[in-house]
Amino acid sequence: MQRRTFIQNTVLTFGALTLAQKNLLSSFFEDPWKITMLTNDIGIFEEKGGTIAFMLSKKGIVVVDSQFPDQSRHLIDELKKKSEKPFKLLINTHHHFDHTAGNISFKGIVDHVLAHENSLKNQKNVAITNKTEDKQLYPDQTFTETWCQKVGKETICLSYYGSAHTNGDSYVHFQHANIVHCGDLVFNRRHPYVDRSAGANMKSWMQVLDKALNKFDRETKYVFGHAGTGYEVTGKADELNKFRDYLGNVLKFVEGEIKAGKTKDEILKATLIPGGEEWKTDGIQRPLTAAYEELTTK
Ligand SMILES: [Zn+2]
Ligand SMILES: [Zn+2]
Repeated sequence: MQRRTFIQNTVLTFGALTLAQKNLLSSFFEDPWKITMLTNDIGIFEEKGGTIAFMLSKKGIVVVDSQFPDQSRHLIDELKKKSEKPFKLLINTHHHFDHTAGNISFKGIVDHVLAHENSLKNQKNVAITNKTEDKQLYPDQTFTETWCQKVGKETICLSYYGSAHTNGDSYVHFQHANIVHCGDLVFNRRHPYVDRSAGANMKSWMQVLDKALNKFDRETKYVFGHAGTGYEVTGKADELNKFRDYLGNVLKFVEGEIKAGKTKDEILKATLIPGGEEWKTDGIQRPLTAAYEELTTK
């Protein structure tokens, strides 16, 4: 049933309910999205898809990733309540549709869309294959290694360190606030999607995480694309270290199984990665498959 229809049908009988029932019902109607401010002007938006970050400034609003069209519309409405400034920049950490499908909601209202050059290529390839080009808002600005711009009192820098979750993942650093959006470079205690069709590589991914750990400091706060149930989509260097070690453990485990003569099907039956006990979510076959293919493809 549509939420609105349900509300209309329910309002008629609302007066007859007990207070406890009313409270229960109210909680059901709470916004399905959640906004958490990390500083006075930088926050995150969670609803469905990869975590969105946003920054309010006197020079305009900056948004990192866009989830899906409905989710972006929810975000845009909320940000309009917080600021009268225009949308200056939409950044995509990478091309996956749970981070870029909502771009279309920014059509005509954002000055520029920015992503790594490979992210744009990947987004186009997928849209052409799926015949969804009319549903895309593509980046009109791309970069190769680094990109920096001052927006109000904040300086935003994007860095690209090579293949990882795809071949087009950026770190987005809000330097003054010392907050980094990692996109899907970090799945916090959740088995990752490893998109080999878009150039992902797990060994290189570990190095890309090391690059961030060297570049950013102990105080840096990170925003993650996804997290396992009960875990946060923000964290510190500890989470990056843990995720890098997890990727190493997956590769080590699969390599050992291959050496022991196990077939791919036998390896995929594993339910736990030794050393990766905190990763308890579904989807363990995804990194196992990717590791197997990476280790057996020349
Ligand atoms: Zn994602
Ligand atoms: Zn992704």
